[in-house]
Amino acid sequence: MKHLQHLLRNIDGKGYKGYKSLQGSYSFDQYEIAIDYVQGDPFAAPSKIRIIIPNENREIKEEWKQSKERSVYTADLLARSIAEAIQKESNASKGSGKSGLIYVDKPGQEILERTAVQLKQDQMIICLSIGLPANGRKINGKEAEKLFFTILPSILKNSVFAISDEDIEKRVHLADQHLAIRQKMKDNNWIAFIADGAILPRASGISDKPLTKAVPFESSEENRVEIAVPPHQVQPLTGMAIKKGISLIVGGGYHGKSTLLQALERGGVYHHITGDGREYVLTDPNAVKIRAEDGRQVTAVNISAFINDLPQQQDTQRFTTENASGSTSQATNVVEAIEASASTLLIDEDTSATNFMIRDARMQALVHPDKEPITPFIDKIKQLRDQLAVSTILVMGGSGDYFDVADEVIMMDQYKPYNVTEKVQEIIQQQPVSRQGTDNPFVEDMNQRIFLPNSLNVHKGKKKKVQAKSLDTIFMGRTTIQLQGVEQLIDPSQTRTIAEILRYMEAKSVLKEGKPLTELLNDIDKLIDQAGLQAFSPFPNQHPGGDLARPRRFEIAACLNRMRTAKIK
Ligand code: ADP
Ligand code: MG
Repeated sequence: MKHLQHLLRNIDGKGYKGYKSLQGSYSFDQYEIAIDYVQGDPFAAPSKIRIIIPNENREIKEEWKQSKERSVYTADLLARSIAEAIQKESNASKGSGKSGLIYVDKPGQEILERTAVQLKQDQMIICLSIGLPANGRKINGKEAEKLFFTILPSILKNSVFAISDEDIEKRVHLADQHLAIRQKMKDNNWIAFIADGAILPRASGISDKPLTKAVPFESSEENRVEIAVPPHQVQPLTGMAIKKGISLIVGGGYHGKSTLLQALERGGVYHHITGDGREYVLTDPNAVKIRAEDGRQVTAVNISAFINDLPQQQDTQRFTTENASGSTSQATNVVEAIEASASTLLIDEDTSATNFMIRDARMQALVHPDKEPITPFIDKIKQLRDQLAVSTILVMGGSGDYFDVADEVIMMDQYKPYNVTEKVQEIIQQQPVSRQGTDNPFVEDMNQRIFLPNSLNVHKGKKKKVQAKSLDTIFMGRTTIQLQGVEQLIDPSQTRTIAEILRYMEAKSVLKEGKPLTELLNDIDKLIDQAGLQAFSPFPNQHPGGDLARPRRFEIAACLNRMRTAKIK
């Protein structure tokens, strides 16, 4: 401990580069600090440190790490407590640039596997970014001393050392409950569960917190199920189950259809903290939102099941474009989701291309199917279910044509769901539609694309570059990968991980093995399960790599699929 203080006093007032001499580790009473990376100047990306707390100083019980989920939930809670303690420490940064900044990769409403706090066999590792204090470009050793010897200890005292075992146990129970709900869903072939009392709408378009005056969710009678959750003194949950198959969500505008679907695509696919309102909303983890995404890159995707005979004989078995249209992008998104092994598709009319979704009888009478390149989704949805076991949950308030293909119809009315399946059957009898279905089979030869090694063009001049710029942008070499249309990518730390995966794949020449995309995704998932997210970091045991969160295979695939440099065998 003396050592760090001594060093700081020695370099006080010197040029900022002098901080580089701090690299190394230092022991404190209850923990060790490892300074892994020191920023080059006060304005550069902050320095990276790890705080290593042995189990005897903050016990993390074996039972809290008993399952992967429990361990992830415990680490998540600890990371949140650190983020809160940092916020309370009003260390208004003194000095130039990032002086005095302290940052932990703070979780949002979701509980994701992350590297910010890592629970090892006999120690806990906390990854922090800090701005080493400066006056202008000179070292401010006094402030640095305060940071290491007053502020950091206080943050730890108020977070990991203050948090009670009961609080951790509650979080561990939530993990068990989520597992129990998922198991029950699997056993019963349910692809979604929305608990009674859930709060689905969000505070605003830019806040993921719950809306305060929301109408709590209340299942329709027909769909209500009960799920027993641990620990056993807790009442069973009740709520709405949606079965595998084709489910239609209908209802008037502004009655909460899209809100329900969004809760399923975000809330349900990822797990949420207590108090979020969506903590008991769960969806098939392999559910993928499908939307139109015009302008996206498409490389050699077989969309011929949906689109044929494009003008100028464009090949739709290996459809490639730098600028897809609404319908071709949506068809591509379906085929790619299935390629990455999606088992449920989530579709909202609001973000769909109309000509991809429907073609009614009158339009069919005017434009002969021979003249129409698009086979609309309505003619494919049953094949998806029957041939590929892919379910669909579809929001469609504007066309009753889908009545004919739906297994179940839910109507939203004043934010409440009603099961109107029987009513819909009556309407089908009374008002049959004369539109013609098409029965050309689904993609006989499903996509199993192999990306060529030169797809990962990371070179920028003499340097290599792969960097996540924001939630939805990755810079790779001289190109930008745009992920704005990938709605289930929800945390910038997931994007960072995807960038690290790209970097890793290039560095290890992973594409030279010539594996199809599905196998690549399996390998990545396996590596994360076995070695953790840090496996992809260039410094796997240090902090650069302390702000990663786990993306799903679908979002990793989405990124590879949007590379403008992709080349397919
Ligand atoms: P739709 O897709 O049916 O047109 P939306 O889902 O977009 O409707 O919802 C319309 C508005 O109602 C949104 O502003 C949404 O935040 C709000 N809303 C949705 N569900 C609820 C609810 N349960 N309680 C209160 N407001 C809600
Ligand atoms: Mg809507």
